[in-house]
Amino acid sequence: MRFENKTAVITGASRGIGLATAKKLASEGANIAVLYVGNTEEGENAKKELEALGVKVGLYYCDVSDFEASKSVVDSIINEFGGIDILVNNAGIIRDQVVLNMSENDFDAVINVNLKGTFNMIKHTYQQFRKRRGGRIVNVSSVVGLTGNAGQVNYSASKAGVIGITKSTAKELAAKGVTVNAVAPGFIMTDMTNTLSDRVKEQFTSVIPMRKGGRPEDVANAIAFLCSEDASYITGEVIRVDGGLAM
Ligand code: NAP
Repeated sequence: MRFENKTAVITGASRGIGLATAKKLASEGANIAVLYVGNTEEGENAKKELEALGVKVGLYYCDVSDFEASKSVVDSIINEFGGIDILVNNAGIIRDQVVLNMSENDFDAVINVNLKGTFNMIKHTYQQFRKRRGGRIVNVSSVVGLTGNAGQVNYSASKAGVIGITKSTAKELAAKGVTVNAVAPGFIMTDMTNTLSDRVKEQFTSVIPMRKGGRPEDVANAIAFLCSEDASYITGEVIRVDGGLAM
């Protein structure tokens, strides 16, 4: 029970990697604030699943790209849970196109959710982390933030930016006992990758040294490690969870 009496805020926790992370932390005692933006039924289902693990769960509608809305949700969580110990910035979207066909809207939308959303959540929780003199922030980047990828200029730029935010915030908060790290997943089997054709999925997995896609739980396990006491002397690090794809 590594997270007993801790409160974890997880953005995009209604499904995929976010939900797997919420379940992992809850199964080890963490109370969870689930942030979602799309499907309320999915959010309610996630809440029920997590409550069944015996922890306190709050469900919050929050578009992380909205500066004011994310501030008011963070304030509510601090009121209702008494403080935040763990922040996992997981919410993310894709709008893939080669540059030639990428619209300004597609570029802005991805940067606003993936990069600005991460900034917004860190900005609004920053002061309470400093005052508590402790805590964990884990940002979900991507291997394409390290390597780039054709058709993902917006996404790879946002995820490279997330690594920049991670390292800069880690330097700012290290002396306050707050660690800030990132995970960089490779090809993980969630709704985000389910939309790809079987042919494209096969192309992806054929270049992964482990010859298979990852499970959301594989990423959740790495996030949980970074949130735990075992990782207390690790900050500003990026852990790839990719079956060897980007080594
Ligand atoms: P997913 O299944 O599509 O889930 C995305 C989550 O983000 C959903 O819970 C969604 O909420 C939430 N979300 C989207 N826009 C949001 C916004 N504006 N405000 C708040 N929440 C928002 O994706 P996933 O595969 O689990 O991905 C999770 C993270 O891992 C993302 O940052 C993604 O970029 C990263 N990642 C994924 C892979 C992969 O292969 N799957 C690889 C590398 C990195 P709703 O359900 O309410 O829409």
